[in-house]
Amino acid sequence: MISLFVLVTFMCQSCLPQVQEMSSRYHRPEKPVSGKMRKLKDLMLKGDNRICADCSAPDPKWASASIGVFICLKCSDVHRSLGTDISKVLSLTLDEWTESDLDSMIEVGGNTYANSIYEAFLPKGYSKPKADSNNEERSKFIRSKYESQDFLKPSLRIVSSKMSFRTFESAKNFDHKYDTSSSKKEDTREFIGELKVKVVRGLNLAVRDMLTSDPYVILTLGQQKAQTTVKKSNLNPIWNEELKFSVPQRYGALKLQVYDHDMFSADDIMGEAEVDLQPMITAAMAFGDAELLGNMQIGRWLKTNDNALIKDSTVNIVEGKVKQEVYLKLQNVECGEIELELEWVPLDE
Ligand SMILES: [Zn+2]
Repeated sequence: MISLFVLVTFMCQSCLPQVQEMSSRYHRPEKPVSGKMRKLKDLMLKGDNRICADCSAPDPKWASASIGVFICLKCSDVHRSLGTDISKVLSLTLDEWTESDLDSMIEVGGNTYANSIYEAFLPKGYSKPKADSNNEERSKFIRSKYESQDFLKPSLRIVSSKMSFRTFESAKNFDHKYDTSSSKKEDTREFIGELKVKVVRGLNLAVRDMLTSDPYVILTLGQQKAQTTVKKSNLNPIWNEELKFSVPQRYGALKLQVYDHDMFSADDIMGEAEVDLQPMITAAMAFGDAELLGNMQIGRWLKTNDNALIKDSTVNIVEGKVKQEVYLKLQNVECGEIELELEWVPLDE
């Protein structure tokens, strides 16, 4: 479903084996499913997930894994009637959860996030069903919300009921088609926005010369490259330098590499990391004009064993701007961390 595509975290497939191999060095090995099951339980206990996403009944014991919401027994019956293409209903206590079910629940982040997408255009004064509403009222609301997606931002509405967590690629294709439907616009719509990346600082970077290093950072997005200045003899450099990229329709991960500047030979690599831009860009698009919104959290890139995050990275609207702070552990190197601040500037419609 669309909210999953909106909030999903994306991992470049080609780097997966490498990063998985790396992750074993940085993380205590554990069974992925049991670790994620614990994350799901934690998520379930968060305030907004203690009431049903659809009718606000307390203490929901069911979930729609494909949509990413916690729901009560009565609403789960209606969800089941939508078919598993739209809503895959699972018991939080009785059912076996597959890894991909767990991923999609965790990555959506719970009822508040899902509802911020599915109920973004809920008409003013509309009254949602309550815990004691009759089945007809409940059913009507749930069908409008998820089946015909009446309350979704129109440009995100996707008629295909096959939309699911794993098919966000096709959602991107859809957007592509949508955005370039007018050939006159095609040139200007080649880019969907601008990404500003402030390279804030490095911490505990690796030693590449005798006792220290002369680090600088290269960022790469597709064919575009930008780099910071070189900081002489500094393992904890503060850059605070902003680098800018134009983001195309089909963007991949932002790649970051740290090098040691060497006067006499080729520069040595001091680690690398990838930044998934999907959570920020899709959340920003779903919420629309940030200048009209108050300060709030609109998305999240979750730390997993497969990415370079040191901690979960939230996407926020801060004074009308879409921003995200990212703390990365450098990969393929003995040590080092990099702090970034991202800002997303959409192109005007
Ligand atoms: Zn309910």
